[in-house]
Amino acid sequence: MSNIKEIQSTCAYCGAGCQIRFSVDTAQNKILEAAPAKGRTNEGTLCLKGWYGWDYLNDPQILTKRLKKPMIRKRGKGSPLEEVEWAEAISYVADRFTEIKNTYGPDSIMGTGSARGAGNEANYIMQKFMRACIGTNNVDHCARI
Ligand code: SF4
Repeated sequence: MSNIKEIQSTCAYCGAGCQIRFSVDTAQNKILEAAPAKGRTNEGTLCLKGWYGWDYLNDPQILTKRLKKPMIRKRGKGSPLEEVEWAEAISYVADRFTEIKNTYGPDSIMGTGSARGAGNEANYIMQKFMRACIGTNNVDHCARI
């Protein structure tokens, strides 16, 4: 008897709600592959994230270990990341933004909202920050891919 089961679900990556069909190895509790299902919003198609962006479900540490503290490359590009306190990280980012903005202008900076995890309020604050503090309309969202 096969342990492979087809399970239809909703893609969890962005908010479009595409229907997705997972092949799941129930013995190992592992997703093997994904394919589009005929949903109202996706009509039998998926974007790349739907096709391939679900591997974190099998292993949440697959890309990187979860960050627990902010990190800075203090000795420049290529140097190792070092853990720092939030106050130092925020001050570092503020200084770099100011430096870049003063040298290249506000339109040299862009903010991208995240469909995953940040939430509507955080994305709203981010776009407000880009417009009001940085002074650019360069604001977009990862779903545009
Ligand atoms: S657009 Fe892509 S990421 Fe968003 S729900 Fe559909 S397949 Fe998933």
